[in-house]
Amino acid sequence: MKYVIVTGGVLSGIGKGILSASTARILKEAGLDVSVLKIDPYLNVDAGTMNPNQHGEVFVTDDGYEADLDLGHYERFLGVNMSMKNNITAGQIYLSVIEKEREGKYLGSTVQMVPHVTEEIKERIKSLKGEVLVAEIGGTVGDIEGQIFLEAIRELALEKGREEFFFIHVTYVPYLKTTNEFKTKPTQQSIQLLMRSGISPDMIVVRSENEMNSHSLKKVALFGGVKESDVVNLPDTKNVYEIPEILHSLKIHERIAEKLNLKIRDNFKWEYPKFFKKKRIALIGKYLGTDDAYKSIIESIFLLGVEKPEIVDSMILEDISESEMKSILSEYEGLIIAPGFGKRGIEGKINAVKYARENNIPVLGICLGMQMMVIEFARNVMGYNGANSTEFDPNTKYPVIDMMEEQKKILKLGGTMRLGSQDMEIIEGTKLFEIYKRKYASERHRHRYEVNIQEFPEMFKNPGEPGYKLVVSAKSKFVEAIEIDSHPFFVGVQFHPEYKSKVGDVHPIFKAFLEVIDK
Ligand code: GLN
Repeated sequence: MKYVIVTGGVLSGIGKGILSASTARILKEAGLDVSVLKIDPYLNVDAGTMNPNQHGEVFVTDDGYEADLDLGHYERFLGVNMSMKNNITAGQIYLSVIEKEREGKYLGSTVQMVPHVTEEIKERIKSLKGEVLVAEIGGTVGDIEGQIFLEAIRELALEKGREEFFFIHVTYVPYLKTTNEFKTKPTQQSIQLLMRSGISPDMIVVRSENEMNSHSLKKVALFGGVKESDVVNLPDTKNVYEIPEILHSLKIHERIAEKLNLKIRDNFKWEYPKFFKKKRIALIGKYLGTDDAYKSIIESIFLLGVEKPEIVDSMILEDISESEMKSILSEYEGLIIAPGFGKRGIEGKINAVKYARENNIPVLGICLGMQMMVIEFARNVMGYNGANSTEFDPNTKYPVIDMMEEQKKILKLGGTMRLGSQDMEIIEGTKLFEIYKRKYASERHRHRYEVNIQEFPEMFKNPGEPGYKLVVSAKSKFVEAIEIDSHPFFVGVQFHPEYKSKVGDVHPIFKAFLEVIDK
């Protein structure tokens, strides 16, 4: 195994994840068996308990791991499914070390950061298979919690041989308008911090708002101790899917292969949307702290060559008149009702569903979004006043969404939902069947509550049966999807189709949704 290690400097959020995913992709295209790893220095065991407002979306893998959203980039860019092996957090490492200590596995030694914690990190890294591992270290160099990972990697490079490692350091160079110059000082300092950890970069990727001049890049090379040709400037792009193409044209794969002594082929196939149709799609959600909170949904639309949906705050759709609702939502050609947890904003989502149902606006409900569709139908069509999910109203007279039986005895929140790939049967004669064109599929889940069809069977019907009811379009032990047959597109899914979208292979539910809007 050879290693490409991606570290970051100056600040976070400069696209290290995209760069890692793109580098992995060009190496894969060059014929290498590439593995990827995200190292997250936070103390959470996984991202499952983190607020999307702060940290962005929680990405779920087939094996039910609740991961950092970078695993979503890896899946979309590489076209390969990730698993829990592809993400290490400091929480996992410390948990495992402490468990081993309690089991007496350290045979009386004083358990220390070096060598015990570093050993644990190295073992986890070494357990990944392939010709090349692209490993991205989250955060920025100098962060206290990231330091131990840099140390482990420094040790690993010493054990395996420095020539087996290629270090890419990603930094940001701000532009100072007042003096009309690029400021490389923060970059210089972050390189120094990296070097103090015993790691010298092989390549420095400098992110900037606009293209940098060669004078500034030269300076970075000088301070970084690398050749000028190993400083790569990547100015902002509107479309991140350009990055693999840019890296390929800069021959980054050749430089890595040369240094790591890898044989590569000359091949590069990478197709992504370059032109975007203007469609007004509202994503009704409540996590507005960062656009990353709904990353996979937004990318699923963008990757179909349609401009990104606009996030509409579900809170503003609460307590408003029908005409106000109309003035806000009539601007949009389609609505996506977002997944989520907790009571805040749900009434706004229910109002949006009502508007879409009554006005024949295409609407796609995902997980919580689907549950909102069922509640809306119960209240406004069935006349069940106060119908709700027991997540929000434990005493409702009409618990049309209720906690799954097996969830009721679970007390801990971390990693305990119904998670990951679950099989379902798609019912023939439904829109969903037209979309999938097959009877069985497996989709990723992340929820505790389900449609309470046992108690409220009168709300549902089979396809073809008369009456204005919800058609169950997919089922397992639970209701997995619903739709209204007389509506152009009223589709709710308990699962998350967005987690399965890849570049060039977006989940067909999004395609179908956009096709209806296009008509
Ligand atoms: N809060 C809901 C549940 O737990 C929906 C979860 C989600 O949207 N991912 O069932």
